[in-house]
Order: sequence, then C-alpha cells, then structure tokens
Amino acid sequence: MTHCPLCHALYAQEDVKLVAQKEGVKLYHSACGSCGHGLLAYLLETHGGISSLGLVTDASGADALRLAQAKNIGSDECIQAHRLLTEHSRDLCRQWLDISGKLA
Ligand SMILES: [Zn+2]
Repeated sequence: MTHCPLCHALYAQEDVKLVAQKEGVKLYHSACGSCGHGLLAYLLETHGGISSLGLVTDASGADALRLAQAKNIGSDECIQAHRLLTEHSRDLCRQWLDISGKLA
C-alpha cells in the first residue's frame, strides 16, 4: 500500500484514495506518479489482524470511484454478455481490427 508493486516508487499521500468501505473492508486506489500504473487494494480487518489483496490496474482513481458506485451486474446480464460474445465474436473482432486499420 505504500509503494508501487511495479516500479517500487513510494506513493504520494494525495495519490492514495479511499474508494469504498463497508463493515471492516476498505478499498483503496493508488496512482503511481512514477510509472503511471494504478493499484486497487482491498484491506480486510478481522479480529485476527489485517489482510490485503492488491490488483494492478489501468483504471484511474475517478474510474474506481465511478465503478464502486455503479449498480451491480446480475447473472442475467453476465449470461447476455456471454451469448453476445459467443454469437458475434467474429463481427466484434472484425470491428476492432477495422478500428485499428489492420483490415483497411
Ligand atoms: Zn510505479
């Protein structure tokens, strides 16, 4: 939580933000001023101590705040996304390649 796991630079205090907290669990976002990567860190406080889990991300602090306040995704939406990707993956890949100019 004090330094970037990628470049090992110390985080500036103003670059570490509390994104969400609930019943002994806190989610922080840290932005590295040296390499530009972000870190999402869960801190879980229990009677036995504190556990943490970190995830390197390209999400900004503003993204983390926005996503923490977003509506949860339900199982029906996950199934719809899976079907969409399964049934239209060829079209989706073609569109991404067209955007990158590789098919032009
Ligand atoms: Zn870094």
